[in-house]
Amino acid sequence: MNIHKLKPVVLLTLLLAATTVGNSTARAAKRQSVASKAKISRLIKQSPDLKPTGKILRQNHRTYLKREDMISKNYNLENFADSGVFNHKHQARIYVASPVLKSYVRTAVKRWNTALGRQVFKVTTKRSRGTLRVSLKTSDAQWDGLFDGNRIYVNRADFNTPNTARYLEDSQYQAYIQHMTDLQNEAAKKVQKLAADHAVRHETLEDSRASKNGDEQGAIQAEVDAEMTQYFQSEHQIQDSYRAKLKAYRQSKHTWLVKLKARYQRMYWNSVVEHELGHGLGLDHTPYLADVMFAASNDEGEYKSLNVKYPWVKDIAVATRDKLSARDIDRAKLARKLNYW
Ligand SMILES: [Zn+2]
Repeated sequence: MNIHKLKPVVLLTLLLAATTVGNSTARAAKRQSVASKAKISRLIKQSPDLKPTGKILRQNHRTYLKREDMISKNYNLENFADSGVFNHKHQARIYVASPVLKSYVRTAVKRWNTALGRQVFKVTTKRSRGTLRVSLKTSDAQWDGLFDGNRIYVNRADFNTPNTARYLEDSQYQAYIQHMTDLQNEAAKKVQKLAADHAVRHETLEDSRASKNGDEQGAIQAEVDAEMTQYFQSEHQIQDSYRAKLKAYRQSKHTWLVKLKARYQRMYWNSVVEHELGHGLGLDHTPYLADVMFAASNDEGEYKSLNVKYPWVKDIAVATRDKLSARDIDRAKLARKLNYW
């Protein structure tokens, strides 16, 4: 008798029974009740911008069906994925055609799956089984990632010539720069003090020479020269010591800096793939930097006429953070309710 096998089966049965009873009661009560436009409008107004609250996420099936336009517009959702990308289990199978992108895709997939509490994306190694394909694409257009119905492209040119500026705002990097500035300032202060002391000594010697006769003046001149030599030597020492400290510090931080830059590169391409997967789930952009779905907005020209809450140009700027925000996650949950995935 395998007790370990039996237990889950029993539990599952009980659970199923409970859900069946719960559902049939709820279904009977909710069948006819499509929430009114006024009610949905009120719930939208009560929720933060682009952030669906619990109530918006707990409407019944028919309400989502009837009020789809209103809801999708207000939360900037759109059914971007081609039919067939998501199967009946609401899962998309991703085939990564460019091996260099595999680790980024795996990370992005893991983050979405964890955030949504289900395996919405699954990486497959078989091309024929993939419903969503990820690959590099050569383009001189201004995008880093692109979602195209059933394909995600990463800009090959940008991927191969990484933008090294992304780590510049890191606080540890700023502390590193600050430390080097401090070393420089410290040396500059020492030089300043040295020059001031030298000026005083020099003036004293000159004054005393003026009051003396010929022979004594010669002796003082020797002192003036010696003082001058000493001053220049001390200044060189300070400069040499500063350069040595700077070099040692830079060397001690070299490996750290290389890793920091690499981490920011990884973070960036993770965020690009996460962002494009977000489009796959039906998420359009947001104007909030904290979101993976952030993009720079453009409310001019052709974009102005779009029937969306925020109009955007293509993905010129995607977020540099690779952590999904609560807004990203809740919008994706709402997109599921609207059957976009
Ligand atoms: Zn985008």
